[in-house]
Amino acid sequence: MSVMTPPGVRTPADYIESVMISVKAKNPAEPEFHQAVAEVLDSLRLVLAKHPEYQSARLLERIVEPERVLMFRVPWFDDQGNIQVNRGFRIEMNSAIGPYKGGLRFHPSVNLGILKFLAFEQVFKNSLTTLPMGGGKGGSDFDPKGKSDNEVMRFCQSFMTELQRHIGPDTDVPAGDIGVGGREIGFLFGQYKRLRNEFTGVLTGKGLGWGGSLIRPEATGYGCVYFADEMLKTKKQTLEGKLCLVSGSGNVSQYTIEKLLDFGAKPVTVSDSNGVIYDPDGIDREKLAWVMDLKNVRRGRIRDYADKYKKAIFMPTDVKLDHNPLWNVKADCAFPSATQNEITAKDAANLIKNGIKLVAEGANMPSTLEATRMFLDAKILYGPAKAANAGGVATSGLEMSQNSQRLSWTREEVDNRLHKIMIAIHQNCYETAEKYGTPGNLVNGANIGGFLKVANAMLDQGLV
Ligand code: NDP
Repeated sequence: MSVMTPPGVRTPADYIESVMISVKAKNPAEPEFHQAVAEVLDSLRLVLAKHPEYQSARLLERIVEPERVLMFRVPWFDDQGNIQVNRGFRIEMNSAIGPYKGGLRFHPSVNLGILKFLAFEQVFKNSLTTLPMGGGKGGSDFDPKGKSDNEVMRFCQSFMTELQRHIGPDTDVPAGDIGVGGREIGFLFGQYKRLRNEFTGVLTGKGLGWGGSLIRPEATGYGCVYFADEMLKTKKQTLEGKLCLVSGSGNVSQYTIEKLLDFGAKPVTVSDSNGVIYDPDGIDREKLAWVMDLKNVRRGRIRDYADKYKKAIFMPTDVKLDHNPLWNVKADCAFPSATQNEITAKDAANLIKNGIKLVAEGANMPSTLEATRMFLDAKILYGPAKAANAGGVATSGLEMSQNSQRLSWTREEVDNRLHKIMIAIHQNCYETAEKYGTPGNLVNGANIGGFLKVANAMLDQGLV
C-alpha cells in the first residue's frame, strides 16, 4: 500500500506535532482527550523513528479518530413524577482487534471529551491484556447519588432503550465504571433482554446467577496490586509491611485494599468527593467490610468512618487548598483509585518529597501530564493506568469467554488467569520500554506495547 506522506511533514516529530495540532483544532474544549492523546503520541516518537510505515499510512490521524460517536437523549420520570432529561453517549473508538469493549460511567461530570479520553485509553489497555478486544466507552451525566433504586432503574431502562440498537455480544460489550456497579448492570441487562428477546453476553460485570464471572468485581483492584507486586520484584522488594495510600472508596479502592491486606501491606487512607479519611492504625479487614457496607449497601459518605473509628481523621474537601491532603501523608506506595487528574504537580511533589517508592494507577489517567513527568524524572516505580488497571477489562474478557462457552470457571481459575495476565502485561511494558531505549519507563512501554498490536491490525485490514 502506498499512501503519500502529508505535504510539509518530514520527521516523526513534525508529523506528531501536526497530528496534535489537528486533534486540538478538531476537538475543541476537550482537554482530557488532548491530554490522553499527547501522552501516547509522545511515546510514539520512538516507534515512528524505527517504523516509517505507520507514518506513511497516516496511522496516527486514523487512531485518534473514533470509528463512531453516539450521543442521545435519555428522558425519564423521577419519583415525584417530574420529567428529567440526561444525555447518553457511546464512543466506539477502535475495533481493529475485537469488538468495542469498555465501561459506562454515570457521573454529573461526564461529557464528550472525558468519554473520548477514556475510550482512547481503552484501545491501548485492551490491546495490552493479550485478549481480542477493541476499545470503547460510554455513559451519561446522570448522577446516581441520592436517587432511589426505582429512579436508577427508570433511568437505566431509558438509557438502554436507545443504546441497545448499537451494541451486541460481537459488536460492542459495555461494562461498569464510576457510578455503574452491579445494580446498574442488572437494570441495563434486564432492559436489553426484554427489548431484544435474547440472553447474551452483551454486558460484563453481570450478577453471578445470570452470566457474571467470579472475580470480576475484584479484578481491577486485585490486578492493580498484582501489577504493583511485579514492579517491586524488579527491585527485589515486596508489599509486605508497606504503608499504602488509596484514594476513592468505590469498587477499585475496595478491592485494592483487600488485595493489599493479602500481601501484608498496610493501607491507611480512603476518600470520596467530600473528603479524605486517614487511619494511622491501618484499614484492616473488619474496617474494610464496614466501608463496603457503607458504600455498596447503605450508600453513605466516607466521613462516617471517623465517627465509627475514633483514631481516624477526616479531612473535608477544601477547594481553596492547592493540594489533596491524601497525597501528603507519608507512605511507601500510592494507589490513586478515584478519578482523572486527582494527582496534580503539587500532589506529585508532596508524594516525592515524602519518599514515595511506587505509584500504581487504579483510576484512569489520575495523574496530570506534569505529575507523570515528575514521577518518571524521580525514577520511582510508576505503573500507568492503561497497564496497572487493565485487570478489570481483562476479566471482562474472561467473562465474555465463559458466556460464549456457556460455562463458569471457578474463583481460583479466574484469579489465576488474571494474575498471569497482569504478570504478562508488566513484562510486555518492561521489555518494550527497554527495547525502545527507555528502561524502566512503563509509560512508554504501555503506550508502545498497546499501540503496535492495534496499528499492525489496522495496516492488515486496509483503509477502513
Ligand atoms: P466507583 O463509582 O465505584 O467509585 C468511584 C470513587 O471515586 C468514589 O469513592 C467516588 O466518590 C470517587 N470519585 C469519583 N469521582 C470523583 C471526583 N470527581 N472527585 C473526587 N472523588 C471522586 O468507581 P470505580 O471504583 O469503578 O472507578 C474508579 C476509577 O477506576 C475510575 O477512574 C475508573 O475509570 C477506573 N477504572 C474502573 C474500572 C472498574 O472495573 N470499575 C476498570 C478500570 C478503571 P463519590 O462517591 O463521592 O463520587
